[in-house]
Amino acid sequence: MKHITQHYINGTFTDSIGQEKFELLSPSTNEVIGSVVLGNEEDTRRAIAAAKQAFQSYSQSTKEERAAYLQRFHDAIMARQDDHVEAFVTEYGGPIQMAQFLVKASADAILSAKESLLNMAFTEKVGEAEVSRNPIGVAAHITPWNANIIYFCNKTATALAAGCTVVTKPSEMSAIQTQVIMECVHAAGLPAGLINMVNGRGDVVGVELSQNPDIAKISFTGSTAVGKSIAALSAQTMKRVTLELGGKSAHIVLDDADLNKAVPFILATGFLNSGQACIAGTRILVPASRQNEITTALKQAIDQIKVGMPHENDTAIGPMISQKQYQRVQDYIQKGIDEGAKVIAGGAGHPDGLEAGNFVKPTIFVDVTNQMTIAREEIFGPVLCVIPYKTDDEAIAIANDSPYGLAGYVSSENRQRAKHIADQLDTGMVSINTFVHTPFAPFGGTRQSGLGRENGMYGIGAYLEYKTIA
Ligand code: NAD
Repeated sequence: MKHITQHYINGTFTDSIGQEKFELLSPSTNEVIGSVVLGNEEDTRRAIAAAKQAFQSYSQSTKEERAAYLQRFHDAIMARQDDHVEAFVTEYGGPIQMAQFLVKASADAILSAKESLLNMAFTEKVGEAEVSRNPIGVAAHITPWNANIIYFCNKTATALAAGCTVVTKPSEMSAIQTQVIMECVHAAGLPAGLINMVNGRGDVVGVELSQNPDIAKISFTGSTAVGKSIAALSAQTMKRVTLELGGKSAHIVLDDADLNKAVPFILATGFLNSGQACIAGTRILVPASRQNEITTALKQAIDQIKVGMPHENDTAIGPMISQKQYQRVQDYIQKGIDEGAKVIAGGAGHPDGLEAGNFVKPTIFVDVTNQMTIAREEIFGPVLCVIPYKTDDEAIAIANDSPYGLAGYVSSENRQRAKHIADQLDTGMVSINTFVHTPFAPFGGTRQSGLGRENGMYGIGAYLEYKTIA
């Protein structure tokens, strides 16, 4: 049982002024595993003041000094690798294999920021002018529950690389994971006030961060609805915003695809992080001529996927984070059925023997049109929609006919053809035939999937402001 009562402000674990308590439940059993005391506006303002104070000297630091801090941050995170994995599995219900990948990727993101920083130039001569890029000020980070550690590490590392100081508000459902991270931050021994964290609710701490004039920039990852409200509030003080929002990504299976490769790729990206992944490829666009063959192969493959307790090594899909998220996925499955789509695998309810937790059955719908609710809205669970197309142009049109534009996937034996399709997808990212982790390349989406890019020098650039001196 973990009871978290402190924020991390100015280099110290600090008792919360806000006293609202939030119970932490195991997604696997719905038993209480701890609690977190939620901060209020006053806690938030203290953290902002600490970051503002620290910014004065930190913004003057050299690249080499920041790189050294990032290395210490990285090493401290790596030193507690197993504890991060344990917290992710227990509190979030993420499968252990995913947890191990994520923790390593999170630490790597810090090193990517460090390397990018060392390769960046912060001044250049443009005609008669000298143009410099300067840290923007105090950055606020507001993050969701589905991959807490990577958001924390990536956003913090790129902000610190730029010379900004940080106040983070994680999801209240990630408090145990955040506590382990903050212990690492503390152990890294960075100057006080560089990294601050306030536990709390979005409509309290998140709103204060969005409206406080001492915050210069917000980097938010979460739902499109909340992203819009943060952007609207931030506009009052003209904060810079980076918004990483929802997705409904298409996976185009071309008619020459080898199903031995395409089917595992579809399931790996469709059910990524138990389906609770913004970049999940959930609209599976298949050539009408091969629809039966592909759906049969998908159905066979899904039967081999283990839904189960997240700490078991062979579990591919763990529980949904909360009962609310479980119910959301159930409602979408019902909506799909009501609108005329056909379930060929999975369906409503819990898998047998897993009734106590928030487990759902990985589900595949066929007879889906791109206008159905299940093809337009983000479900954020392991539910795939198979949509047939007749020509490559029609596949591209269907893929692009979405409010979202985060990621895309293409399966084909012809790389050139796949690249040609990828070029025409109106999304921030496309993966061809395999999922590659690209920590130096820009991450983010078009349209309602957000604004701006994260990762590497692109992410660092989002914390810098140009200045011209002529
Ligand atoms: P959410 O938008 O409900 O919450 C995200 C964060 O915002 C939480 O910390 C929450 O407390 C805070 N928040 C809530 N209301 C707020 C307000 N009014 N002002 C300021 N902050 C507020 O999202 P969630 O349910 O935690 O996560 C799931 C969503 O996140 C999905 O839609 C998913 O697509 C999206 N997501 C996007 C990415 C990406 O990189 N594009 C990655 C992961 C998740």
